[in-house]
Amino acid sequence: MNCWKCHHGVYKAQKVNVKLERNNSIVIVKNVPSKVCDECGDTTYTSKTVERMHKLANNALENGFEISVVQMKTAA
Ligand SMILES: [Zn+2]
Repeated sequence: MNCWKCHHGVYKAQKVNVKLERNNSIVIVKNVPSKVCDECGDTTYTSKTVERMHKLANNALENGFEISVVQMKTAA
């Protein structure tokens, strides 16, 4: 599938780290499965991944730390 932004690049599956900010807290979610354009670096996630990412972030925020780092485990 060609990139919808630059129209030249091709999306490649890649694990990335995503930083989410809520109120005054920062959650870094590591190993998020995504597709990254090899030309412009545009990054896309499936809606299921976004859902899991936010669930992890919400759990981390409940701990009350200003900065949390969580790993996303890939579904078996
Ligand atoms: Zn691109």
